[in-house]
Amino acid sequence: MQEFVDQPLAVVIGGKSAKALGDALEVATVGDLLRHYPRRYAEQGRLTGLDSLVDGENITVVAELAEVTARRMRNKRGSILEARVTDSRESLRLTFFNQAWRERELRVGRSGLFSGTISTFRGTRQLAHPRYLLFPDGVHDDPEAAEAFASALIPVYPATARVTTWEIARAVRVLLDTLPELDDPIPEEVRGERGLVDIRTALIDIHRPATLRDAQAARDRLTFEEALMLQAAVVRRRAARDRWTATPRRGGTGGLLERFDASLPFDLTSGQRAVGSEVATDLARMHPMQRLLQGDVGSGKTVVALRAMLAVVDSGGQAALLAPTEVLAHQHARTIRDLLGPLAAPDTLDVADLNQPGTAVVVLTGSLKGRARTEALNAIADGSAGIVIGTHALLEDTVEFADLGLVVVDEQHRFGVEQRARLGERVNEGGRPHVLVMTATPIPRTVVMTVFGDLDVSTLTDVPTGRADVVTHVVDPTTQPVHFERIWERMKEEVGQGHRVFVVCARIGEGLDNTADEDPEVHGVIEFATSLGARCPGLRIGTLHGRMSAEEKDDVMSRFRGAGEDHLEVLVATTVIEVGVDIPQASMMVVMDAERFGISQLHQLRGRIGRGSVPGVCILVSSADGVGRTRLDSVAATRDGFVLAQHDLELRGAGDVLGVAQSGLTSSLRLLDVMKDGEMIREARACAEDLFREDPELGSHPALRLALDRADSDRLTFLERA
Ligand code: ADP
Ligand code: MG
Repeated sequence: MQEFVDQPLAVVIGGKSAKALGDALEVATVGDLLRHYPRRYAEQGRLTGLDSLVDGENITVVAELAEVTARRMRNKRGSILEARVTDSRESLRLTFFNQAWRERELRVGRSGLFSGTISTFRGTRQLAHPRYLLFPDGVHDDPEAAEAFASALIPVYPATARVTTWEIARAVRVLLDTLPELDDPIPEEVRGERGLVDIRTALIDIHRPATLRDAQAARDRLTFEEALMLQAAVVRRRAARDRWTATPRRGGTGGLLERFDASLPFDLTSGQRAVGSEVATDLARMHPMQRLLQGDVGSGKTVVALRAMLAVVDSGGQAALLAPTEVLAHQHARTIRDLLGPLAAPDTLDVADLNQPGTAVVVLTGSLKGRARTEALNAIADGSAGIVIGTHALLEDTVEFADLGLVVVDEQHRFGVEQRARLGERVNEGGRPHVLVMTATPIPRTVVMTVFGDLDVSTLTDVPTGRADVVTHVVDPTTQPVHFERIWERMKEEVGQGHRVFVVCARIGEGLDNTADEDPEVHGVIEFATSLGARCPGLRIGTLHGRMSAEEKDDVMSRFRGAGEDHLEVLVATTVIEVGVDIPQASMMVVMDAERFGISQLHQLRGRIGRGSVPGVCILVSSADGVGRTRLDSVAATRDGFVLAQHDLELRGAGDVLGVAQSGLTSSLRLLDVMKDGEMIREARACAEDLFREDPELGSHPALRLALDRADSDRLTFLERA
């Protein structure tokens, strides 16, 4: 009976109501509205507590009228009707202009639902022009109210100023009254095992429960359904992936990888070795690797990735490394050329000499133009470039590889899940390339299972030994002016020892920000660099921000990194430096207006110092108090990225931190919380695996298969729109 839920709402509830609901709630079909679930249930006899109402919130409360007065306005024409409703302790004022007639029905002692936007007027909480629906009092029989309150539990929907919860309830009631039998996406035996109610019962009981227990049973079932759909999709994608083919890249003896390992100035950590062998095993398979490598800032992911790339080059293939920005692409190229030393062929792209000891490392970004671009494209196409580094420009169809064997994606959450999907689809003769995704944000297991569920996961838990200490202090310039001044003295001392200093600002300034970031209270890069120059004459200060061209950025970075006489000593920058920038001499970072940054972001920023053997100091400058200060203190208290990620997720939810919201996967989640419902997600995964093991095509579960196909196509539509 898919047809029923697919119908446009207008067909069932009439065009006018459908339009009103559609505009307010973004619901188009019968199914959309059926899945618009109540947030809670009110009861006629039980008044809603009025003590914790927040200004600006759209609320619906059950309350009782305690006072009603109508009067003429003193200075203007017209009348004002004021009422006071209570929960028997607190009260709320209702005001209506020129609606004196309402006095007839708004009688003291009556109760009902009152809905509107909370505001404060002369110290009193009020609803101006609220909408209301009074409980039937027997005297005035209002058929609409009688119908709305036929059952003891009144659904309270997430509503807006334009449609009230009872208008939504009325429309839902029409749907429920005509609800046919529905095919259940959860197979009967699964429902039996877990004691879940069927889909029809669940939909009826979540909207119109007889008891709270029925409502809870409905909610349990619908939550599990979301978990199962999510995990069945993951299991199905993994199965599809196992049917894809790839060229095995087994490397070889005496190749680049062997020579690279022998030339490394340090020993690999045990974590790097373990992950390295997982990756090598994957690369040797006939199916494309789909692996997520997570490791804290500085854990040495680049070396792991490079070793995989070399194994692929040793097998006659090419490896591409995708970075989120041009700055990072150039940085990676530099790091990789440094690490490879003589193994990186000189940058002359016309050399395709097979006797060459190494392989060419080529950079391709969007800003590369003209002859340089053509040469890069040729080296990629004829295979002389074994390692290709770039931004998403590498994904364009005009870029042809001779034999792309491996794609490494750095900093996945900035890069976007959808782009990753496109990568894996670059099919060549041998099949698809192997894919290795790297992230510095430790991702909780349940989030991995949902958003990155089709990836195998490797984790680098140890950080290379001998890494320098970084201490972090929070300095409040208002209450600690002496400490604040001391920062700049310390900066000069660091520079005096040949070290580098980062100063991070939350905006660019000079009108270059998006207007949303233009807060004059917040320090901007350009203005702050100038005032720092005035404060510390003779200091060589550079600036770096997103409005500079790729060339300008690259130039500044190389002068900041440089060893020459005129290298930059201090870099005032926005968060462009957040990810991956590697300057071993950087010993100090000052973050201005630190409360403007998230926990993970500060951790990433701080990861830019203490990368060599020079101990680091990180100063978070902020006058924030309350939660803002607590966040900064937690960053100061630990350098453990896993601990901080957990804090961050608890404070902000998974959506913002990991880009889960952008993945399209969670657009269908209404009840399931990927952070809190870990246990249920694990059970759903096991359940999905059982179902596919017994019946890979889901031939005996057509409703589940259909629902999955629909979710897939919804997700694609979502991603295309994004
Ligand atoms: P990540 O990308 O995980 O933040 P990098 O790969 O950039 O970390 O490594 C950070 C620094 O540590 C680099 O300078 C790198 O050369 C160095 N490094 C990597 N592995 C080791 C190791 N096993 N021993 C010592 N230093 C290492
Ligand atoms: Mg890195």
